[in-house]
Amino acid sequence: MSSAVPEPIRFEDMSTGNRATVLQAVRDMGPISRADLARLTGFSATSVSRIVEELKGQDLVVEAPGNLESGPGRPPTLLSLNDRGWFAVAVNVFPDRVHGGLTDLGGRVLADETLWVTDPAPEAVLALVGRVVEQLRRDAPNPERVVGIGLAVPGVVDARRGEIRYSPPIGWRAVDVPSVLARYTSLPVVLDNWVSARARAERWFGGATGVDEFVYIHASRGIGASVVRSGGIPPRQTFVSTEFGHVVVNPEGPRCRCGRRGCLEAYASADALPRYAGQPDRRPEEILAAARAGDPDARQAVAETLGYLALGIVSLIHMLNPNRMYVDGWPLTDGIDGLAFLRRAVDERVLEGMKEQVSLEPTRLTEWGPLIGGVALVLDAVLSRGEAHVKPVEVRGA
Ligand SMILES: [Zn+2]
Repeated sequence: MSSAVPEPIRFEDMSTGNRATVLQAVRDMGPISRADLARLTGFSATSVSRIVEELKGQDLVVEAPGNLESGPGRPPTLLSLNDRGWFAVAVNVFPDRVHGGLTDLGGRVLADETLWVTDPAPEAVLALVGRVVEQLRRDAPNPERVVGIGLAVPGVVDARRGEIRYSPPIGWRAVDVPSVLARYTSLPVVLDNWVSARARAERWFGGATGVDEFVYIHASRGIGASVVRSGGIPPRQTFVSTEFGHVVVNPEGPRCRCGRRGCLEAYASADALPRYAGQPDRRPEEILAAARAGDPDARQAVAETLGYLALGIVSLIHMLNPNRMYVDGWPLTDGIDGLAFLRRAVDERVLEGMKEQVSLEPTRLTEWGPLIGGVALVLDAVLSRGEAHVKPVEVRGA
């Protein structure tokens, strides 16, 4: 990091296309030479050099000498994303707590903080978010270099406007997050549904690095899917949050958390496991542990629940015809072979001509996945053309 004060990053500046394209290419392909950047982006060598100078001026990109053995003559200098140049605060809102983390732009969590929710009203919870953010910002190696907040919440979100439209798990309706949060912190905030935030984390830091289009499925106490598409010039990705878990599979089925009957989530989430095991008072983790230990009732429950999840995934494939899907959540529990079960189901039930094209992969995110989803939100806001809501606030002190 240079000691000189860098130029401020404004989210809106980055949204003007070419610089975002170059930065994304550096992130995906770095360390990379200017010549390769020009080939990859289609921009002229002069344009690439100018943009790289700007990105270096903002401490977003660093350069290092290339391999001396790469050939005759002076080796090209190679460019990489400057992970430690800037920081972000990522926050997840759960029904019972607010969990925040300070991270660098490489997705490394440097500090984290949890505050417990006593009053579930949006004002009260967003005040907690503000406290977590300001605490973590003070923990940053350089508080002036915290670029923004990535906030991941459950439910239906209007990311463009920064509004939570409806969230069954936390019971909120029509909450204008940026205007409430502005009372507690001056940092700009980017908001998204938490499954889409995880999909963004998979794209930036997980198995989908360099993958432009995929479907990310998360099955835990709820079930969600985010559909990632790419298009436009310069190409950019869109992350479409779905309410996949609330596809109705049986109108007379069991009651779902959303209040309706027979949603996929009521059949295929971890919460369905105790019911299928005939032990409704036990926790899902206990049923999974029993299945791992060979208990026949628990194993049967796992097979039934996975069977419903597989039906959902097969339908998604028939609707979207994806090449790549990432699965996250309880099916990846050690010792139950959930992914193998789902892959067999795809092989047996998806139409010929489609099933050969699609691969089902396990997430590569760690337990920090939910948090770094928030960092990925901030990075996408830096890179994309105003897809998510960002207040046009300058980085403080810059
Ligand atoms: Zn439902």
